[in-house]
Amino acid sequence: MRDETCIFCKIIADEIPSYTIYEDEEFRVILDVNPASKGHALILPKEHYANIYEIEEELAGRAMRLAKKLAVHMTKVLACDGFNLLQNNHQTAGQTVFHFHMHLIPRYKNAKNSDILIWNHENFTPEEMEEVKNALKCSRDSEQG
Ligand code: AMP
Ligand code: ZN
Repeated sequence: MRDETCIFCKIIADEIPSYTIYEDEEFRVILDVNPASKGHALILPKEHYANIYEIEEELAGRAMRLAKKLAVHMTKVLACDGFNLLQNNHQTAGQTVFHFHMHLIPRYKNAKNSDILIWNHENFTPEEMEEVKNALKCSRDSEQG
């Protein structure tokens, strides 16, 4: 479950150095080499899955659980004022490394780049909103995969 061309697989195998802040049997958490803020970190599952569509549902759940724990820990240590979780899938959505990962981004009041993660709003008519709502409506038992 490793992709020979994947930089995160190489980091997990210790073939490329990283600033590791946490490790267990399933995950490695490293500092992002081009951080958006002080402490910006990435949760990497040790198994290679390209994105949210490929990762096993239970493992994705455990990644979110770890994100919760680390958000609390990092906020305490860094004394940051806010926190973003981010997870990109496919190039169109900004994904540049095609090994599933979750960004943990501490945010600070008065930071130079305080507008990171702000997007422009798109406007839709009530009819368009109704249409997309009808297309997306699902329940716990719906087939989503
Ligand atoms: P994404 O754009 O969501 O695919 O995020 C990929 C992230 O990986 C970017 O924020 C990069 O700065 C980061 N990155 C790329 N190579 C490395 C590396 N060798 N060590 C740590 N972070 C990396
Ligand atoms: Zn990989």
